[in-house]
Amino acid sequence: MRESLLAQKGLIAMGMMVDQTNTFLESSSWKKRFPGLTALFTTKHGGVSQGYFSSLNTGLHVNDQRLDVIHNRHTVARNSGWELNKWIFADQVHGTRVVQVTSRHAGMGTENYSGAVKAADGLWTFDQGVGLSLGFADCVPIYFAEPETGYAGVAHAGWKGSVGNIAGEMIRQAAEAGVCAEKVYVMIGPSIGECCYQVDQRVIDQIPEDISGKGIYETVAEGQYKLNLQELNKQLLLKAGVKEHHIEISGMCTGCYDQLFFSHRRDQGKTGRMSAVIGWRES
Ligand SMILES: [Zn+2]
Repeated sequence: MRESLLAQKGLIAMGMMVDQTNTFLESSSWKKRFPGLTALFTTKHGGVSQGYFSSLNTGLHVNDQRLDVIHNRHTVARNSGWELNKWIFADQVHGTRVVQVTSRHAGMGTENYSGAVKAADGLWTFDQGVGLSLGFADCVPIYFAEPETGYAGVAHAGWKGSVGNIAGEMIRQAAEAGVCAEKVYVMIGPSIGECCYQVDQRVIDQIPEDISGKGIYETVAEGQYKLNLQELNKQLLLKAGVKEHHIEISGMCTGCYDQLFFSHRRDQGKTGRMSAVIGWRES
């Protein structure tokens, strides 16, 4: 199984590696650079969910069996050296609201969707020992880390969150709390790629003008475009003051890598969710 996953085109070259348990990917360079940090993106393997959700669905809000999802979340936590009650989940609404959390919030939303942090698409913290968790099935997971202050964050950016600049909002709030934008490292994880993501004029019109010319989209027909959400977020991060050499782009497409990921577009809405989790482990 592991060999077949790794054999998918370019998987190693992209810089993200499947863990030996097959349940999540990590960036090889971040793993080396930040030994005290967990920053993972789950796959769809190694869980107990059935049917559309087979097998490692980590989303509680998609009508899967609740106990299966909790089991799956425990599996990922255990495989990555955590306890699930140290993680914090959010009720995501495709907005740009970003929330600071602390160790007092540990466990929120881990077993009940209603217990998650309300209406937030970005979470960040200065506390060690908490894992910030958001769910994905094509939208862009953006991971943030700054080792000097112990800042860690994660954002969920679909097209709305991207054009609304949740990436910049993460940096703005961190800066307000004393984190230097130039010292922040950012990783843009797997999401729907431009190969599989066609949008109309309404979306393109909302891309901030000063970055719209930077190779973010390509016209395919009158009023139809292929949009590169990962590049769009990279440009927004540069504008927010993040150093280019601090930004890593996975380049992986959730639509194309069908052996690894759920994809809302490819699976026509009937699918599970991957989780992006980030947190500094207690030292
Ligand atoms: Zn694709």
